[in-house]
Amino acid sequence: MDRKTHLMCPSAEPDGAGATLFGVVLGTPERPETAYLEEARPVTAELLALADPVAPTEMFRFAARCIRTGCAHYDDARDTCRFGEKTVRLAPVVVHQLPRCAIRSSCRWWYQEGAAACQRCPQVVRTCAAGSTEVGRAADPRVA
Ligand code: SF4
Repeated sequence: MDRKTHLMCPSAEPDGAGATLFGVVLGTPERPETAYLEEARPVTAELLALADPVAPTEMFRFAARCIRTGCAHYDDARDTCRFGEKTVRLAPVVVHQLPRCAIRSSCRWWYQEGAAACQRCPQVVRTCAAGSTEVGRAADPRVA
């Protein structure tokens, strides 16, 4: 079995393939900070409703199957998630000790970038009006 085809995106939508909840976004809109769950949980309608009136992706971190060529961040020639790569290159380290993370064994960013991704991951929010400018640039497929 090719492990790469089973990697999970750590900044996914809740309706992605095999989606699970693995973190809750705390902190402030300007300085979000993910609290990682001890175990990943299934995505349910009740869970999504808890985020109202904001988008679930503003309040929660979801992982879902990396769809590779179906994603604007994927570099097929290098088999690389450019979002993860740019997060490591552009965003600051926010934790020195790796968070206890329920999806690490299947996380694409961990597989690709190692500890450097985990040291920056807590500030990543899929949908955030404020948030880190650097993460915003990393999440923009137009930014090299
Ligand atoms: S980058 Fe690290 S902390 Fe973030 S989801 Fe992946 S394994 Fe977990």
